[in-house]
Amino acid sequence: MSDIIQLLPDAIANQIAAGEVVQRPASALKELLENAVDAGATQIQVIVKDAGKQLLQVIDNGKGMSPTDARMSFERHATSKIRTSQDLFAIRTFGFRGEALASIAAVAQVELKTRQTDAELGTLIQIEGSEVKKQEPVASPVGTSVAMKNLFFNVPARRNFLKSNPVEMRHLVEEFQRVALSYPEVAFTMYQQDLETYNLPTGKLSQRIVGLFGKSYQGQLIPCEEFTPHVNVRGYIGKPENAKKTRGEQFFFVNNRYIKSSYLHHAVNSAFEGLIQADQHPFYVLFLEIDPSHIDINVHPTKTEIKFDDERTVYAVIRSAVKQALGAHHITPAIDFSVDVNFEDTWTNNPETKSQVDREYSYKTFNTPEFKKSSTSGWERLFEGNISPKPIQEKPSSEDELEILTFPSRASMDEPRFMIVPEESEATGATFQVEQNFIVAQMSTGLLIIDQQSAHERILYERYFKQIQSAKGVSQQCLFPPTLQLNPSDYALVMDMLPELHSLGFMVEPFGKDTVLIQGVPADVQVKNEKELFEGLLEQFKNFKSELSLDKRENLARSLSRKSSIKKGQKLNPQEMETLVGQLFACQNPNYSPAGNKTFVKLDLNSIQSFFGK
Ligand code: ADP
Ligand code: MG
Repeated sequence: MSDIIQLLPDAIANQIAAGEVVQRPASALKELLENAVDAGATQIQVIVKDAGKQLLQVIDNGKGMSPTDARMSFERHATSKIRTSQDLFAIRTFGFRGEALASIAAVAQVELKTRQTDAELGTLIQIEGSEVKKQEPVASPVGTSVAMKNLFFNVPARRNFLKSNPVEMRHLVEEFQRVALSYPEVAFTMYQQDLETYNLPTGKLSQRIVGLFGKSYQGQLIPCEEFTPHVNVRGYIGKPENAKKTRGEQFFFVNNRYIKSSYLHHAVNSAFEGLIQADQHPFYVLFLEIDPSHIDINVHPTKTEIKFDDERTVYAVIRSAVKQALGAHHITPAIDFSVDVNFEDTWTNNPETKSQVDREYSYKTFNTPEFKKSSTSGWERLFEGNISPKPIQEKPSSEDELEILTFPSRASMDEPRFMIVPEESEATGATFQVEQNFIVAQMSTGLLIIDQQSAHERILYERYFKQIQSAKGVSQQCLFPPTLQLNPSDYALVMDMLPELHSLGFMVEPFGKDTVLIQGVPADVQVKNEKELFEGLLEQFKNFKSELSLDKRENLARSLSRKSSIKKGQKLNPQEMETLVGQLFACQNPNYSPAGNKTFVKLDLNSIQSFFGK
């Protein structure tokens, strides 16, 4: 009988290997980001379309590749990072298996452009399902761009296995966060469907954390440091009162590589014992430094698990570091990052972070007493009630950022991106309404066109979210408290969120079987019929719940803002309009509605002039 064993063709072998390396867009993102960092990039840009299913592109300004290396990089086990097995025990780079690009190219259409600093021309390679379609010299900037298109185009079964866009996007953001946290000295930007969703200038770790998770983290971080001969620990932990019930903001890095370890997580949690509830998780970003010969990172293909040769010592060091940090925090008041000298320094002196500074100032201008004074009268009509129109100063939560990512706006590709918040003198002056739908406001450098409903939803959303968090919502008593009969599942839903409803100002109580009594509603919502308001809120909540898997509090804040916002077709007087504009730019995220629609566009003088061919 003839022999029957054959070597698999490369394309098939690669495809099989790809199963391990590329499970979803996020795993490709991790590999591409790590390659960019390994290449010494100082600026990395990520472009995502359709949650990475259509396009995932990583552009870096690193050292680039020669034409031969560019071609070689797609071969399996081709790497520039280790040469001998000895090197395996002293790994300092992210990659080393030489599998990533080969795997990605086996299951997607990949376009690589790369140029080395001293080369005149770069190299373009197009490769699909491991087959090279094109290789030619090309003019390109120094560095490397890898675009992965139509992931799993040739493996439909796996494509079908991908989760919905919000879920895949969440994974992408997680990977992005991990790499961005471990390299605060590298600037990162992320675009999703042509919208800039992260813009992280270089800076200190504390700034990076705030850039990623929101300004509310500024006052919440406690530095944590411990140096021992065996292992060093440094980073930040969150204050106990900032601990959350959901996990997702716990980060360990070993020699700058993100790892998961429930054992070490336990070390941190146990240090928090007595300060947080059993079902809460503290925020932490902790970097461990340890001699590579004491660890084995090669136990898992996706490399987030790690083996320490002396895990118990590492546990003890982490626990003691966190305990000490918490202790120090209790004796001395928490560090205020706004007066942290280093923080200030970078923000004002580093030209790269200037845009961040501008943003800061433009927010602040709307927080000035003069501004508040001029805007109160408008508020009284817009949001009747006894809540002061103080702009929200803290970012509601990191979920808020995710939500923008997850529900992309309808912005088209060619539209300019206006991520900058108008400056001080802007958004004042003449304002008027178009079609009782848009507000046009004049600014020193052009015009702002604001979608009144989206803008108002954004304002209310941030306010309600804050109220739910701080339980500071004010209630107005119903004159004749209505009762509301619900079906059993709606009743259960309402009971489940009673504390949140109370925080918002809804005084709702159980009142016999499947019935609730509405004693009071939020003071700042204009109500004609309390029962209708509550039913409408519940309906909206359920809609959002089935469409998008939102966190309860976020859903509630969104539902109420949708329900009680100014709608299209509502006439506004000039004062109301100015107030709306002012309040919008006092928001943490003025650019989008909670559903991810743009709240405003800016028509600057240049574009206006260009209409007239000037
Ligand atoms: P690994 O990173 O494990 O070596 P990869 O398949 O990810 O394997 O990459 C193969 C090789 O291609 C790398 O060793 C590196 O030499 C080169 N390479 C990949 N991405 C880049 C990049 N962004 N810039 C420069 N070189 C790169
Ligand atoms: Mg790699």
